[in-house]
Amino acid sequence: MKKLFVISGSSGVGKGTVIKGFLERNPRFSLSVSCTTRPKRPGEADGVNYFFLSRDEFETAVNNGEFLEWAEFAGNLYGTRRQNIESGENIILEIDTQGALQVKSKMGANVCLIFICPPSVEDLESRLRGRGTEDEETIQKRLDFVKNELELAKQFDYQIVNDSIENAIAQLKKIVEGEQ
Ligand code: 5GP
Repeated sequence: MKKLFVISGSSGVGKGTVIKGFLERNPRFSLSVSCTTRPKRPGEADGVNYFFLSRDEFETAVNNGEFLEWAEFAGNLYGTRRQNIESGENIILEIDTQGALQVKSKMGANVCLIFICPPSVEDLESRLRGRGTEDEETIQKRLDFVKNELELAKQFDYQIVNDSIENAIAQLKKIVEGEQ
């Protein structure tokens, strides 16, 4: 079985842009479409960005054992259907850190965990403060969340510092090629 690549990253770190750039240049890879209970955002389509499920539908799928992993993130449920990874090769999962660690503990050596980090917590902090849109409590909460994620990221196989999108895409390509 080929490696399954699982990518997580701090929110606001640009991991979506890095993954999109990688996929455009490496079209043999495809992104697994997750299920979520969060409402659809403008421009999103069912079956393309996510499969949008009600909480009831999601819970039924959990009880039926349909998910390889699932987690609650910011009050909504997110999960990867087992069939998504059974059906193909060269699959990338873009999921949160809790989900990524679940996949690793279930599939072990067949999984490669990659974490995309901000250049530094100080950098993120000064960007948040510079924006001036969040109050002190919100800033502290976001920073605590990021610090906690960076702790979990130590259990990942690789960390990519997103100091420039091009660099980050090149690093991701190198990791994937080295692992295959
Ligand atoms: P968003 O709502 O912004 O699309 O995603 C919020 C978070 O949920 C992101 O960190 C994203 O990586 C994570 N996520 C998306 N799909 C899944 C999934 O299937 N499982 C888990 N555990 N997290 C997911």
